[in-house]
Amino acid sequence: MAESEFDIIRYYFARHRASRDDVLVGIGDDAALLQAPAGRVLAVCLDTLVAGVHFPPETSAAAIGHKALAVNLSDLAAMGAEPAWAMLALTVPENDAAWLAAFSDAFFTLADQYAVQLVGGDTTRGPLAVTVQAHGFVPPEKALRRQGARPGERIYVTGTLGDAGLALRMNDPGDNWLRKRLDFPEPRIEAGLVLRDYASAAIDVSDGLLADLGHLLESGRLGASLWIDALPRSAAFLGAMQVLDPERRGQFHELPLGAGDDYELCFTVAEQHCGEMEKRLDGIPGGCRWIGVVEADQGIRCYRDDGAPYRPAVSGYQHFSSTP
Ligand code: ADP
Ligand code: MG
Repeated sequence: MAESEFDIIRYYFARHRASRDDVLVGIGDDAALLQAPAGRVLAVCLDTLVAGVHFPPETSAAAIGHKALAVNLSDLAAMGAEPAWAMLALTVPENDAAWLAAFSDAFFTLADQYAVQLVGGDTTRGPLAVTVQAHGFVPPEKALRRQGARPGERIYVTGTLGDAGLALRMNDPGDNWLRKRLDFPEPRIEAGLVLRDYASAAIDVSDGLLADLGHLLESGRLGASLWIDALPRSAAFLGAMQVLDPERRGQFHELPLGAGDDYELCFTVAEQHCGEMEKRLDGIPGGCRWIGVVEADQGIRCYRDDGAPYRPAVSGYQHFSSTP
């Protein structure tokens, strides 16, 4: 049983022996010593999950352990970076052995999947909060930026949208697959590495498609047309919607546009590269779907299949909403 924060580090985080050659000194010294490969720049990102803000209080320790790393790997994926190292700052209210075991198991299961090594961190007592910093490598000229899209290029998204949002809003999603999409998002690392060769711009969808595509477009003062009937929805999403009463169905039908937590990639590709890009993403987890076109006119215009304009009620999740 771990008694102190030193024991916590030793029992749950230092024991795991993933050893990358580029980690000269990992957990246990005052700082890690890391060797970045020649010809690559470091992509570095950090995200914090706070109980009650970023996940419901009843979320399992395993889900929190997975998600804290996954949201950061998703940011690396959106840069086209290959993940390598992670740092973990963990604040826990108590020394709960079962919680810490489940949390660290899930964290390392995902870390191992992408050969990510935990190289350090910090452990403190307080209200539950988890911060992860992830580091990856990317050739500087191939990094995927939010900026870089041009009018006429196609807009794509990986995977399906709205699953996590629906799971969050249904008291009992009834469908474990939907719940898994919320609690155990899969970072689209493989897709990001392929997209290095094709995409002109990319972002991960964490706050909702309209909000995140909006960021991508704003960085170039661009706009887009979006075909909302073409947005990829999972069979589980469609099935769950069918059994909802009409009022809730009406409330939820815009989730693929506005709900966060999907952690898919949204990216733009010049038309001449689309065929090859689609072929290479075919068979890679998530695949991709063509959902719209970049335009010079600012703003996002939505259309139905029959060409009728559609005005969404949602605009995407914002952490700090400003009232005009
Ligand atoms: P210091 O007081 O010098 O910051 P700490 O006692 O906080 O040292 O940490 C000791 C070692 O354990 C350091 O290498 C640190 O990076 C690592 N560490 C602390 N907490 C964690 C954690 N939750 N996960 C991984 N490594 C950790
Ligand atoms: Mg410290």
